[in-house]
Amino acid sequence: MSDISIRITGCAGRISLQRPQALNAMTDDMCLAIEDAMDAWRTDPAVALVMIDAEGERAFCSGGDIAKLYDTGTKGDYSYGQTFWADEYRLNHKIFNYPKPVVSFMQGFTMGGGVGIGCHGSHRVVGDSSQIAMPECGIGLIPDVGGSLMLALAPGRLGEYLGTTAARMNASDAIFAGFADLYIPEAQWPHLVAQLEATGDTDLLVQAGTAPAPGPLQAAMPDIDRHFHGEALGDILTTLKAEDSDFACDTLKRMNQNSPLSMACTIEVLHRLRGPSLTMEKALDLEYRFTSRSMEHGDFLEGIRAAIIDKDRSPKWQFPDAKVPAAAVSKMLMPLGKMALKLGETGMKIGFIGLGNMGAPMAANLAKAGHTVTGFDVAGTTAEGVTNAASAAEAASAQDIVITMLPNGAILRTVAAEVIPAMRAGATLIDCSTVDVESARAVASDAEAAGLLSVDAPVSGGIGGASAGTLTFMAGGSDAGFAAARPLFDIMGQKAVHCGDAGAGQAAKICNNMILGATMIATCEAFALADKLGLDRQKMFDVVSTSSGYSWTMNAYCPAPGVGPASPADNGYVPGFAAELMLKDLGLSQQAAEAVDADTPMGARAFELYRQFVEDEDGKGMDFSAMLPRFSKRGRG
Ligand code: NAD
Repeated sequence: MSDISIRITGCAGRISLQRPQALNAMTDDMCLAIEDAMDAWRTDPAVALVMIDAEGERAFCSGGDIAKLYDTGTKGDYSYGQTFWADEYRLNHKIFNYPKPVVSFMQGFTMGGGVGIGCHGSHRVVGDSSQIAMPECGIGLIPDVGGSLMLALAPGRLGEYLGTTAARMNASDAIFAGFADLYIPEAQWPHLVAQLEATGDTDLLVQAGTAPAPGPLQAAMPDIDRHFHGEALGDILTTLKAEDSDFACDTLKRMNQNSPLSMACTIEVLHRLRGPSLTMEKALDLEYRFTSRSMEHGDFLEGIRAAIIDKDRSPKWQFPDAKVPAAAVSKMLMPLGKMALKLGETGMKIGFIGLGNMGAPMAANLAKAGHTVTGFDVAGTTAEGVTNAASAAEAASAQDIVITMLPNGAILRTVAAEVIPAMRAGATLIDCSTVDVESARAVASDAEAAGLLSVDAPVSGGIGGASAGTLTFMAGGSDAGFAAARPLFDIMGQKAVHCGDAGAGQAAKICNNMILGATMIATCEAFALADKLGLDRQKMFDVVSTSSGYSWTMNAYCPAPGVGPASPADNGYVPGFAAELMLKDLGLSQQAAEAVDADTPMGARAFELYRQFVEDEDGKGMDFSAMLPRFSKRGRG
């Protein structure tokens, strides 16, 4: 299609709008072509990120192609418009939920439909020529394409102001309002595009971003909040008319051009959206209730006539006195029943095997992010949003990605032998368990022999990090495997380091956990000593957590009950991270140290202490921080 260029260059999926003569306005065919490409690239390991840009200096995308909507609508055919909006919103939803970075470069006008494809990705770049707006009320629509979500989330009452006045935002305003992320001078964009194609590394964008000077909207916030906090359109107009300021005059002038019904519905939509249940799905559903009725019952056809057909700029709106009855608003926003917007699948299909302390919250976070997760655990455990399968093989078959989170290397090998033959060729196996380097390498080699990508990706961060989605992943495997796994690491964690080839993730993990075991023992024995010296535990925490003895075991996972942030110590030392798992990890580091002749005396002593604790004392089934009561009970002997 000549209106759009879709291709893979380097490791980037590239989408370039090529209708500069029509300010790159979106047609239904363009929407469908972008959707097809994004569906294909979602699980394509060759595509690390998607970039959307546009030809011409004047516009990234000025909106939807409304001429055809007018043509069909005036002939009584409302279904063309309804299909167009449904296709467009489905694409907006996919971009919003895309599991890989989506970078947009938005020069010039980005309005309406342009916001829908440019402002829902992960890295939204603006420059000096950028002008972003939601001007729909001017043609008898309401802010749509998911724009109502951003308006509802904008600071104060800025959403109501932008939605009803169609005011334009420069780069700084757009970042302030939540429509963009990064200001980068436009002269740098071609070089950045080339670097992103070569590396796929979005940190380059973050490094290139600079702070623009504050825009006019930020300065106008006190006026905006004062006038736009009312319940309904009438309240807003009343306060504006009562004031003789430049702001009030200018705002009234802008609003006088727009459809009163559209403005009243915009305010109602934003009020309904604001609050804890705000989601993109809810925003698009409400928008579609209005737009699907807009030709038959709203001002849309009259708005287009005045704007682009007769160009008289004198639309004859319903409710010209701007007194819009509440019943008229309700009628436009009533549920659509069977005609309601249907949004397709946006996520990957993921199998998750091992739904224990760590696996369950990790799987739940993937489901929450919109992926379809099928789980299996021999203990019959489950996780929020996850459908349980009857076996590991069933959970793994026909999935894009399979993740394992299991107790040890022997169990991993058994599960992998069942799962690998069940997986489809080209899928990716990610093992997040902590296991010995040999097991990790053996599983990786079996997976690769079966035509799969594979990554060993043990984690750090504990059950707190698993629940909050803030784990650190240490990954071993090929570049392609890491690229396929990365979008999921970004959901389950806050950092992922590609440490090297297969097994390198496990090597990093056992070194980390050798430090963790030794520091937990050091923290516990120091508390026990402090007790015997008569030092209050809270005072001990206050000093050490901000002094040179601080550590993760003190500051984030304190072994003393009632001290520091909540930890297993506050829950009777129920794991958390079980002492036997720590013993396993210390055993792995000693095994590895022996294999490569490394001197690890602290690791060896930590291993011996945890062995005694688990095998000879009462440590089995306890959290690894239960070493504190152990030390408390003992003297030097
Ligand atoms: P866990 O014991 O709570 O979970 C392991 C799960 O695997 C259990 O629910 C168990 O029923 C299941 N399982 C065992 N055999 C299975 C099989 N054949 N098929 C399917 N499921 C099976 O352990 P966890 O704390 O969730 O830890 C999991 C892994 O993560 C371990 O390797 C551990 O070393 C590592 N890890 C744990 C923590 C932590 O804080 N808990 C932190 C970092 C890493």
